[in-house]
Amino acid sequence: MGLITLARTVLDVVVPPACAGCGLPGPAVCAGCRQALRRLPPPWCTGCGHPWPVAVDRCPECLGPIRGARQAVAYAGPAPAIIGALKDRRRRDLAAPLARLVADAVPRPAPPCVLVPVPLNPARERERGFNQARLLAVALGRLWGLEVVPALERVADAPAQRGAGRTARRRQVAHAFRARTGPALPARACLVDDVHTTGSTLAACARALRAAGVRQVTALAVARVVRGPGAGGD
Ligand SMILES: [Zn+2]
Ligand SMILES: [Zn+2]
Repeated sequence: MGLITLARTVLDVVVPPACAGCGLPGPAVCAGCRQALRRLPPPWCTGCGHPWPVAVDRCPECLGPIRGARQAVAYAGPAPAIIGALKDRRRRDLAAPLARLVADAVPRPAPPCVLVPVPLNPARERERGFNQARLLAVALGRLWGLEVVPALERVADAPAQRGAGRTARRRQVAHAFRARTGPALPARACLVDDVHTTGSTLAACARALRAAGVRQVTALAVARVVRGPGAGGD
């Protein structure tokens, strides 16, 4: 553990609870930040959940064999700070309120459907101590009474994705996942991730699940990057 990491860990323990969005003392996500999160009302793409002026079945943001992907909020306003706090400041206490945000926005997948967290790069998971997607999946599984199956593993150590171009990212992650050996998976699975960015990670995960016999794959994320002029995405 590096000095900075150690200092952060100590700070996380001694600093009183505060909002991850604005730093206000109190709940993990304060009422003001919750209000400021930008919901994604319809119409949207029924394939990937991207909001559009009219409802469409498939759109330029759709990637891979995923249908019915949905996200709770746009990756804008306080969302990047809140999700960043979960990942980079190890605010595990954010998993439950963020899962609640998803459950409030998105219908529960009808069972039999298992929740499958998107696996993290193993080196990053070791450094962080947890996989935020798994924490979110567990919290969602509790809310919805659905089983969480960590069915995928990351096989290729792709370079850090942040800042990489869209095509480069897609190439990096295309073969990065495979299904773990284990009990047969049900016919339907729902991938869980923190942010739906380009969708290339989710598409690669969906392909790996399909190769393992899952017939229908959908995906949920807390936030999504919204494209297009004035959309307020990345
Ligand atoms: Zn706040
Ligand atoms: Zn789409």
